[in-house]
Amino acid sequence: MRLGVMGGTFDPIHHGHLVAASEVQSLLGLDEVLFVPTGRPWQKAESDVTPAEHRYLMTVVATASNPRFTVSRVDLDREGATYTVDTLRDLRAARPDAELFFITGADALAQILSWKDADDLWDLAHFVGVTRPGYPLSESGLPEDRVTLQEVPAMAISSTDCRERVRDGHPVWYLVPDGVVQYISKHHLYTGAP
Ligand code: ATP
Ligand code: MG
Repeated sequence: MRLGVMGGTFDPIHHGHLVAASEVQSLLGLDEVLFVPTGRPWQKAESDVTPAEHRYLMTVVATASNPRFTVSRVDLDREGATYTVDTLRDLRAARPDAELFFITGADALAQILSWKDADDLWDLAHFVGVTRPGYPLSESGLPEDRVTLQEVPAMAISSTDCRERVRDGHPVWYLVPDGVVQYISKHHLYTGAP
């Protein structure tokens, strides 16, 4: 069982995340890609992040139509800040049969050595670094045999940009799945109101 793991804040999930996951699933022959919304990301303050339940539900809405995509609550159900090493340890315990492939964009890959227990990450999963417009993709400093670099179709989309567009009254149609556009509007997310 080859299991892809796509961790993220998903605030909101957008087509950059979905294309990266789909492309890696296909090219590496993964049986499943598990999307794992973070609880509170350790790099971001609690007040800056949308409540986890909204981010989780948007991720469910966005992935529901793909039979190979699933969503995990491991990071939501753990107390405190989210660290990838804890995510991978929990998934290893829950899915002992699975070989894990952690999918990450070029920006996050470049940060990896600064993550908690970075040395332990390589035993827990294989890392797949994907191209992301605006960030150089490089494996320098990372163990060569545990990291694969993968070019994916370029999607110059970020959650930050999506949030700013909603706040400024600009459309996010076609940047995020239709159901996510509707979810954002229904729950008045990213309007800038307190
Ligand atoms: P934010 O702007 O809030 O940081 P983001 O768009 O970077 O949001 P995250 O949830 O932080 O999204 O990213 C989760 C993972 O998806 C990271 O590994 C990130 O590098 C990757 N990723 C995000 N957007 C893209 C994209 N457009 N193309 C490729 N990878 C991406
Ligand atoms: Mg990001």
